[in-house]
Amino acid sequence: MKFLNDYRNSDGKIIIAGPCSVESEEQIKNVVDGLDLNTIKIFRGGIWKPRTKPGNFEGVGEPGLHWMKYAQDKGFAISTEVANKQHVENCLVNHKVDILWVGARTTVNPFTVQEIAESIQEYNKDTIVLIKNPVNPDIDLWVGAIERFENLGIKNIGLIFRGFSMHTVDKYRNKPLWKIAIEMKRRYPQYPMIVDPSHIGGDSEYLFEISQKAWDLNFDGLMVESHNNPKEALSDNAQQIEPEKVNSMIDLLTIKNKIGNGGLTEFREHIDELDNELMEILKQRFRITKEIGKWKRERDIPVLDLNRWNKIIQDKSSIGRTYGLDDEFIFKLFEVIHNESIKNQ
Ligand code: PEP
Ligand code: MN
Repeated sequence: MKFLNDYRNSDGKIIIAGPCSVESEEQIKNVVDGLDLNTIKIFRGGIWKPRTKPGNFEGVGEPGLHWMKYAQDKGFAISTEVANKQHVENCLVNHKVDILWVGARTTVNPFTVQEIAESIQEYNKDTIVLIKNPVNPDIDLWVGAIERFENLGIKNIGLIFRGFSMHTVDKYRNKPLWKIAIEMKRRYPQYPMIVDPSHIGGDSEYLFEISQKAWDLNFDGLMVESHNNPKEALSDNAQQIEPEKVNSMIDLLTIKNKIGNGGLTEFREHIDELDNELMEILKQRFRITKEIGKWKRERDIPVLDLNRWNKIIQDKSSIGRTYGLDDEFIFKLFEVIHNESIKNQ
């Protein structure tokens, strides 16, 4: 029986690479031959592709599993996404796929997760299963999916963080709310956390910075999409890179020396993420107060409204009390924020 930890390289990291979609026998050979087996121990390839819209390339299906055998013969473990019982049966009974993963669009659906868990239990409950975060930032859905596997005795689990689909478009395709990955790592220290910079970034230009962030946060591995001819890829063509570029990118990343400080680093990283979020919220707040300033100017209304200010202090103090926050602290905090808003108006 193999564990995910058996696939760590000499740097202690678990690297998975391969195309978004398996397209042809030749493509698989080209990608496999380009990947460095010293650092990358697991080959990925999508056989059945869950596409947002119908009519797009939906994967080659079972023939692709025959082609992926080439990677196995070269020494890589092979992995693919499963989204129903037939996929699991095909991978575990008709072929010897080493590692299965549950995609982000599947983790959101408890019925499907249950079906997959039951079929893995039936065919081989020792299979390594990687569970991607759900597309929406709902930590309980992710936890629930893990529990469905654990409850059936499937405990050879890894987690993949691929960011979240948000209603606003940002720099990245899927917003990496790192605090959710950090919280999952805190709850499940026994399950390796693998970051998927390809689906987070959505563009090859962001792969390096996201991967470096994954190492800075001390996560366990990366899943990187790689194609021998990215421009012509049948899915996710903007975010794939040639196999040789995966090798060199991994080499260029810096693994920070973790001082043995009993989890202090993790606490600090968590605090840093929360502080960043505080600043993002302040940015939004000041954007709105500027709008208010404009509105007041147009109507000749004074900037300072004492009734409003008193109400803010009263409301915030009573909420603060339920959170266990000191009255005086809340007063000082909102005084600073309020003064800054008035200055901006
Ligand atoms: C994939 O890994 O190819 C994939 C479809 O990713 P996700 O489930 O994260 O969207
Ligand atoms: Mn993809």
